[in-house]
Amino acid sequence: MRIINVIGIKDGVVDTIDSFGVFDETKVQEVVDKAQALFIEKAREIGLEGEIDEENDPIFDDGYYGIMNVCVCLSWSDVEEVSDIIKGTFVSVWDGGEEVRTPAELNTKTGEVTTESVDVEGLDLDILDREYFETSDGDELEVCTDCHEYILKTVMKEGIGKTLNEVHVCSNPDCDNQ
Ligand SMILES: [Zn+2]
Repeated sequence: MRIINVIGIKDGVVDTIDSFGVFDETKVQEVVDKAQALFIEKAREIGLEGEIDEENDPIFDDGYYGIMNVCVCLSWSDVEEVSDIIKGTFVSVWDGGEEVRTPAELNTKTGEVTTESVDVEGLDLDILDREYFETSDGDELEVCTDCHEYILKTVMKEGIGKTLNEVHVCSNPDCDNQ
């Protein structure tokens, strides 16, 4: 995502920063107009005078107005969007070692695995041994064999004699596998 910042600098350090995000590239002009209006407002606060052509003033090309020890500037920056979704493969392993692999996505926040329905037709499959989500790096994350939709997470549970045991439970709080 692109962001336009109006940055006020005083004595060489950032004093104020106002950021306007371009969430929708078709509305970029609206965002630019808002940022430019604030830029002019801040510039006037520190001494800018005279008429400004709000559409196309040369001051916007400079993106800078400064006097003495204060200045205000317009600056674009890019923010990488962080996605919680990673792509991988849903693998189910059946008795006899038969593997069925399907492209899948994992939501790393909720632990939910989404995949197109696994086509097992025509295969002589009987008992499901294991299911896991394989990341593109080859890491294998166990999928809950109860709901088949969430990976397992490790939690500490109190065992006998107040010992803590690592147990694997479903990431889905609504699943019985807790
Ligand atoms: Zn589950």
